[in-house]
Amino acid sequence: MSTTNTNINISFFSTQPYDKVFFTKVNEQFGFKLQFFETHLGPHIVNTVENNSVVCVFVNDKVNEEVVTKLAAKGVKLIALRCAGFNNVDLAACDKLGIRVCRVPAYSPHAVAEHALAMLLTLNRKTHKAYNRVREQNFSLDGLLGFDVFGKTVGVIGTGNIGSAFCKIMIGMGCKVLAFDVIANKELETLGVVFLPIMEVFAQADIISLHCPLNEITKHLINESTIAMMKKGVMLINTSRGALIDTPAVIKALKNKQIGYLGIDVYEQEDKLFFKDLSGDIIQDDTIQRLMSFPNVLVTAHQAFFTEEALSQIAAITLTSISQICANEAITNKAAILL
Ligand code: NAD
Repeated sequence: MSTTNTNINISFFSTQPYDKVFFTKVNEQFGFKLQFFETHLGPHIVNTVENNSVVCVFVNDKVNEEVVTKLAAKGVKLIALRCAGFNNVDLAACDKLGIRVCRVPAYSPHAVAEHALAMLLTLNRKTHKAYNRVREQNFSLDGLLGFDVFGKTVGVIGTGNIGSAFCKIMIGMGCKVLAFDVIANKELETLGVVFLPIMEVFAQADIISLHCPLNEITKHLINESTIAMMKKGVMLINTSRGALIDTPAVIKALKNKQIGYLGIDVYEQEDKLFFKDLSGDIIQDDTIQRLMSFPNVLVTAHQAFFTEEALSQIAAITLTSISQICANEAITNKAAILL
């Protein structure tokens, strides 16, 4: 354990009980002082951050210019994202204020890829409905008809860590895999994945799975005009970021059956809903309520990453990066460093 770490406080935001368990365990090797906040990071809470702390955030913490400026005034010099995506952080503001930023570029890509598969198979074979049905002693099959995934054409948008793991799973399932990425993946090409322009992938795929990051180019990638290019009855899976999808356009396409199945683990307005137990509340978001009313829509609450292996790796990679940055040591995981 590094003795210098014992002087470093890390303030965690948006923490859940499992974050405390995994980070506390991994921290036995590091010796940081850990402070866990359940609330999102926002301007309201910055005052409670101890001076000179490292701040550790998750997917729905809004690390905008206002927050970054307040953190800088508290002497914060490092923001560590305990996730891969970083669309919620104003990197330009961090850069201007001399705040370094790191993330967890890859932690069990299999966790997310396997969840995408779970959504695909659940939507297709309706195991969620079958489970409830047999518990009611209803053993009929009517309404549970699925299709063979074998032989179908799967379109994968984004073939980085997760998209690549997903392509390999789908090849193993006997599918024809088409992909689009701004950089073609040679290893996948040798395995038989065909890289095509995105519009071709949209036009040919029976099943489309999104694995690209959210940025200015990919925002609302799935919109009225791209949906119109897809096969009627297409299955769309999004485990990446909610705003890749223009949700009203998708609802319209579900209503006219252009989209036959929708599986989403992420949702553009998820920050007000996900990771909370709202079972006793009146949900004010009519869009998610409409989505959940379709029998061919499956929503999970940003749980694709949620495996033991992934949580252990997230904690280990985050604390290793923080330790190396704070000690000015060589960084072993270069992709972790954003600034
Ligand atoms: P990655 O950086 O390894 O891969 C992303 C890929 O997308 C890269 O190959 C990149 O070239 C490609 N890309 C960039 N712009 C593109 C564009 N315009 N069109 C098509 N492809 C483009 O990231 P990853 O680890 O595979 O993660 C992918 C995304 O999954 C993350 O950005 C994150 O938003 C999301 N994610 C979700 C969960 C979850 O629990 N639901 C967990 C981890 C990551």
